[in-house]
This record gives sequence, C-alpha cells and structure tokens, in this order.
Amino acid sequence: MQAYEIINKKKRGVALSADEIHYIVNAFTTGKISDAQMSALLMAIYFKGMTPAETTALTMAMAESGDQLDLSRLPGIKVDKHSTGGVGDKTTLVVGPIVAALGIPVAKMSGRGLGHTGGTVDKLEAIPGMKMDIATDEFLSIVAKHGICITGQSANLAPADKKIYALRDITATVDSIPLIAASIMSKKIAAGADRILLDVKTGNGAFMKTLPQAQELAKAMTEIGEGCGRKTHALITDMSVPLGDAVGNILEIREAIDVLRGQGPEDMATICIELAAHMLHMAEKGNLEECRKLASEAIANGKALAKLAEMVETQCGDKAYILEPELFGSAKVEHPVLSPKQGYIASMDTEGIGICAMTLGAGRENADDTIDYTAGIIIKAKTGDAIELGQPIAILHTSSQDKADIVAQKYLSCLTFSDTATAKPNLIYEQ
Ligand code: URA
Repeated sequence: MQAYEIINKKKRGVALSADEIHYIVNAFTTGKISDAQMSALLMAIYFKGMTPAETTALTMAMAESGDQLDLSRLPGIKVDKHSTGGVGDKTTLVVGPIVAALGIPVAKMSGRGLGHTGGTVDKLEAIPGMKMDIATDEFLSIVAKHGICITGQSANLAPADKKIYALRDITATVDSIPLIAASIMSKKIAAGADRILLDVKTGNGAFMKTLPQAQELAKAMTEIGEGCGRKTHALITDMSVPLGDAVGNILEIREAIDVLRGQGPEDMATICIELAAHMLHMAEKGNLEECRKLASEAIANGKALAKLAEMVETQCGDKAYILEPELFGSAKVEHPVLSPKQGYIASMDTEGIGICAMTLGAGRENADDTIDYTAGIIIKAKTGDAIELGQPIAILHTSSQDKADIVAQKYLSCLTFSDTATAKPNLIYEQ
C-alpha cells in the first residue's frame, strides 16, 4: 500500500477501506510515513469528510495502537461516561460516586485541563495525597474491591491519537467532526467499557458552539460506538453558561461535595442526576424514571458521598477533606466583581470566563504550566438572573490583588446586560 495513493483517493472524495486506514495509522505511528504525508491526508479528511465506516475504522486503528483495557474481570455491565468538556463541568465527581454506590463499577480514565476547560484529574489532585497515576492492575483491583477508581489516562492509551492530534494542532485540522469523533472514541474504546454515555456540550463555552454542530458530533460518536460493538448514547447539554457556580479546582470539588450532600446549584444537581440515571439505565438498573429515583436516593441516604470519600481514601487521598471540606485552603485574595448595572444578565461568554479562571491560576495555558488549586471563580449571577447596581456578581479567588484587578475587568467584558428580563438557557437539549 502506498500513502500517496491513499492521500490521492481521499483528496478525490473516495471512501478509504478499513485496511487502508489501518495501514496509514500504523505506518504513521511507527514513523514509516512522514508528517508531511499525514498532514496532507488530515487536510483531505478535513475537506472531504469520512463515512461512518471510515470513522469507525480510524477509531479502531487508533484504539488498537496502544494498551486496551480488559474490564471483563469486573462484574456486570461497565458503563463509561465522557463529556466533551467546558467550564465548571465537574459532573464526574458526582456521577461516578452515585453510580458506584448503586453497584455499577466505575473504571474511569480522565484527562487534565487545558486552556479554558478544566480536567477531572486536576480537580482530584487538589485533594491532599490523591494519587492519579494508578497502574492498570492496581486500577482494576481497586474497582473490583471498591466499585470505583478514577485515574489519569495511561501513557500508552491510543498513542496514535496523541501523535495525530499533535499534527492536527499545528495544521489547523482539529475542528473536523470525523477527526474529533474518532479521537475521543478511540480513547473510550481502548478504556474497555461495554457501554458509553456521551455528554456533548453545546454553546459558547463548548467545543461545539452550535446545536447542529453538537448534534453532528453526537451522531458521529454514537455511530462509531455502535460500529465498534459498544452500545452508545449521547445527551446534548448546555455550555452557554458555566455549569454550576464554581470554576476552579478546589472550588469545584467543594461544589461537587455540596451536590452529594443534597445541596449545591440546581443546574449542576439536575445534570448529575440525569447523567447518573442514563448510566444506570444503560447498566440495566431500570427504566429512566426508576434510575432517576435511584440516583436521588443515593444522594439523600449519603451513600454517594460516602463512596466519594472511600474512593479518595483508596487512592491515598485524605478523605477528611471530603467529609469536612472547610479543611481545604482558600485563596489569598477573594475579590468581588460588582455589577455595573441594574437589570438582567443577557449572556455570558463562557469560554472567556474559563480563560478568566485560567488567568487567576486555576488552569494551564500550556501543558506544563502549574496550577493554583485554590484559584477560580464563584459565579453569583448567571444569564437570565436579575441584578442590582453594585451587587457582587462573581467572586474571584486568586493569589494577588493585581491578578484580581485585571481579571475583574475581563470578567465584566464577558457579560452582556439587558434592562428587560431575559430567558435562562435550556439545560438539556437532547436526551
Ligand atoms: N478531545 C479529544 O480528545 N480529541 C479531539 O480531537 C478533540 C477534543
């Protein structure tokens, strides 16, 4: 097989065979074809797209390029959840313990944050002692014994995707739906779950800014999952405002604990119950309504919170922080952003708010930046909320007053205001 022929075929819009896709992925990963040829193919895919059969073959080729987890020694149906990410998305910290408390094994590999989005691994690392690089054998033993373990992605999970993504990043080919779908799904398939629940975010803080784009991505990923023999379901949920009130690692852990205590912001609690219910339903625990009830009960009876504490302890974290979150340190500076107007918040630039949190120290601009776990934002008013002149609409948590002053201006520039009442965005577009 010739890389030249494969590129030429895709350039003319002809579908590639599974063999051709496997060949090119393997040849690129093992250094047998150049970045130049792979870049040309990626650009051809960007313009000509891929059929579901092609994206499935690409996903499988990337999943097979490294370690593939065998979860068969764990009992029952293993359901994984993936969110396409956004600002304030801390649902894994709530949904994982709920589902595990109800007897469904949660063997989850999560990622770190970059740019305006946070990552579950960073959030959990904010808990003193927490170990997030657990070797596969230990990972599986923990899940077998305790029902849940959340670890960082193993270095050798879908290495082809890592290498291809690096090239996409410098060739302006990241924003291609078949390439995004195959990239995400290759890691989910390699992580071994039987069934996959996708939370595809849409809105100005999401990867997919519009509902039709999110629908297209959800469809592409669902087709891949099913094509790979894994039952897959996608929800489409809102990211036109941050999820919940907290953005930033310790602040988000504390909000997740609030939700597990039956408190916490309503949007966050609602999404978590819905995601947990879908996971439980996919694990055949009942119909959706029954599963919503089960999820709510696991919060009300304290079992989900106890499961989070147990998970933290088994991963060497100090569970006292889960039971008494007041132990978490707070930022040196807590600076209120005051409303410049009376009226309503008409819209929020959610990606901009994520960048504000990053600038305060909560995230990374570059992969090797260090994080200030105490930094972030507590949002006091969101789209659709009525506000008074001078009212605190956000509290910035950071290490210096200078940073707070700069970000306060940026935060205000992320908002638009209206004199008349504005609608709150939908929380869930498709389930
Ligand atoms: N996340 C991924 O893992 N891959 C992409 O291509 C985009 C987002």
